[in-house]
Amino acid sequence: MTKAKQAELDKIKQQILDDKVCADLAGTATQLVFGDGNPDAELVFIGEAPGKNEDEQGLPFVGAAGRFLNEMLEGIGLKRSDVYITNIVKYRPPNNRDPLPSEKMEFLPYLRAQLEVIKPKIVVTLGRHSMDSLLPGLQISKVHGQPKRYKDQIYMPLFHPAAALYNGGMRQTLIEDFEKIPLVLAKI
Ligand code: URA
Repeated sequence: MTKAKQAELDKIKQQILDDKVCADLAGTATQLVFGDGNPDAELVFIGEAPGKNEDEQGLPFVGAAGRFLNEMLEGIGLKRSDVYITNIVKYRPPNNRDPLPSEKMEFLPYLRAQLEVIKPKIVVTLGRHSMDSLLPGLQISKVHGQPKRYKDQIYMPLFHPAAALYNGGMRQTLIEDFEKIPLVLAKI
């Protein structure tokens, strides 16, 4: 199963390259940061876009925000290799600017294709960019930490670990929201 799913994911990655998705971003980025982790994962985490470290290493969430994410995963008894991690936009935007709506739209079909292959129990959106793309019309300040069912998929919108890293209140809220994930999983 895992091998077959990995092969399907590899095809989607190649498709992004063949389709020349966000050619401008591809031109300024070092490489495509497609995603990483277990193709059979029950949990998929979706961030915003690669930063400098991710762009260099070709892997999502490997910088400071990634270390915080790893810590929170450990806090609920999981390793990175238990889950799958990706971003809505898969090339680093210049100077880490916010991804443009057009860039999120261009990448969305490929993100949906990734989710179709993995079929996670919960899609955890990190920050408003991935939440907006998948769960339109919600405000992260109001819905963070609350599971939402939308078109037969359970989502859990969380604050972005980079935003929460140096903001004590938000950091604590994110940790508390994160700790709800096993309870939501257990109910599915
Ligand atoms: N922030 C993100 O949104 N994604 C990453 O991969 C790293 C930092």
